[in-house]
Amino acid sequence: MRTWKWMLTAFLLVTLSAMAQQSADQSSTSSAVQANAAGSQTATTPAPTTQPAASQAANPAAGSASTAAPTTMDQVVDRSIVREHALMDMLKTRTPLVETYLQNLKSDQKLGPVPSEDHYFLGRLDLGEAVDRRDYLSKDESFEKNLLGGVSKLFKFEYKPMGFSWMIFADREDFDRGHYGFKYVRREFLGDVRCLVFDVTPKKDAGKGRFLGRIWVEDQDYNIVRLNGTYAPRPKNAMYFHMDSWRLNLIPGYWVPAYIYSEEGDFSYGAKDKMAFKAQSRIWGYDLKKGGKEDELTSLRVDSVKDETPSTTDASPLEAQRQWQQQAEDNVVERLQESGLVAPDGEVDKVLQTVVNNLIVTNNIDLPRPVRTRVMITSPLETFSVGNTIVVSRGLIDVLPDEASLAMVLSHELAHIVLGHNLGSKFAFNDRMLFSDESTYNNFGFRHNPDEETAADAKAMELLKNSPYAQKLDVPSLFLKELSERAPSLNALLTAHLGNSFTNDKGQLVRLSALATSGPALDANKLDQIAALPMGGRVKLNAWNDRVELTKSAPVAITSARDKMPFEVTPFFPRLSRLTSDGNTGNATSASNTAPSN
Ligand SMILES: [Zn+2]
Repeated sequence: MRTWKWMLTAFLLVTLSAMAQQSADQSSTSSAVQANAAGSQTATTPAPTTQPAASQAANPAAGSASTAAPTTMDQVVDRSIVREHALMDMLKTRTPLVETYLQNLKSDQKLGPVPSEDHYFLGRLDLGEAVDRRDYLSKDESFEKNLLGGVSKLFKFEYKPMGFSWMIFADREDFDRGHYGFKYVRREFLGDVRCLVFDVTPKKDAGKGRFLGRIWVEDQDYNIVRLNGTYAPRPKNAMYFHMDSWRLNLIPGYWVPAYIYSEEGDFSYGAKDKMAFKAQSRIWGYDLKKGGKEDELTSLRVDSVKDETPSTTDASPLEAQRQWQQQAEDNVVERLQESGLVAPDGEVDKVLQTVVNNLIVTNNIDLPRPVRTRVMITSPLETFSVGNTIVVSRGLIDVLPDEASLAMVLSHELAHIVLGHNLGSKFAFNDRMLFSDESTYNNFGFRHNPDEETAADAKAMELLKNSPYAQKLDVPSLFLKELSERAPSLNALLTAHLGNSFTNDKGQLVRLSALATSGPALDANKLDQIAALPMGGRVKLNAWNDRVELTKSAPVAITSARDKMPFEVTPFFPRLSRLTSDGNTGNATSASNTAPSN
């Protein structure tokens, strides 16, 4: 069965490349592959010098291949169109979250384009017949103000978060041959996945808002795995953004939209383009329940929801108080996970947990209940704690340069726990869990008053100084300095939605400012000084089941101050791989062939 599939694939690729007369990818060319395809494949056979006459005689398929080629090419396009509609169909009942974080850019002599201001959007998509979305933050007045008074006034166009949501499909309505022309370009590997690349252009009179760009189609089931381009024609007084949209093979047979990068702007001398921004959109929570409670018996429960009381007697008043807090904590964490804001307990939590334990053990802290950690999936930099659970946002973990910085962030929340600044006990009442997912930010809040914040900062410094991180506080200090320096242009990134923000409403750093004012000076020109990382570098999110893990990308040498990009948005380049890895996938030699042209 596998051999058959392999042969078909090889055949298809050979005929395609022959037809397109492409010379794009000259590496690892082996005419031996096709000749041996019928028998056992010895992919490592060194390529013999091509002998047109002999190869034609030995391989009767060559003749029929050239005549069958146009059909095969059409088949690929047809299959990809069918698969795209199947994807839309499969996602019809899904309501994933979509988050867009956008940085407007200005040109800096030393650092190149840097953020001048930023915007944040978080919504829930309904991928039914027409794509629809509800925003988690739409009731936020500053959001409206930013939206209408900020971007649109400056750049004379109206920016709609819906626009980014649109980009998860090439064309929700009419992705077909009637509206589009497809031109084969070449084969190309994206990560481990071999793809066929096509340029897609809307046909004349195809109508407004049609996709114009390039698609990458994987070569097993012919799903689109990447889209890159824009929409056309450009309407009057408006514009479509450019986008690079990536999909991941997270469930069998489907590649689901996960990342979209957008960028506009031209900083070349004399350029008239006044608008410049970079934006990352992330989509996740495909597998979340649609708010319905009908199948709650089978739904995932937070694993700590079990009776942990060892006693067989009634709870004492103090025990009852602790159990009450535990109940509130469990309710909140579970509800946040249900609404797609917090990731399930997993691998990253173990890392956070280790750092917390380092602080606890070296400070001889004795707590009645263990401290747990969870990752909030969103980008804005924030932490909060509810009961004994510390929650840290993905965006914050992304930008932290090292373990000591992580310890610095966790120490503040641990301090709240140690000092008994317990918030959220009202959430032990279950009626307070009954609200729509989109209104989570209106129903939950874990902000401490300024006195508790000051006390927590002082305690955090004490915890750090007694910890294994005591001698490593230079980097956390630099992180806070960088944060302080960038804060005025990163208002959206620094606006916490559930906990306390790192900065006040004037954009001044308020968290651990004692640490920020000590230590070495920040110097962009020192290439070994990494104060903060770009967005998206540490945590990998599974868009289907919301699980997070740490990325394993190799460090890349920084060669100039422009490479540092602290807190900045960068393009996505996920390494694509197939869901089912049988060990051999991706190892097949590229089956390009020097097919004789006449
Ligand atoms: Zn705090």
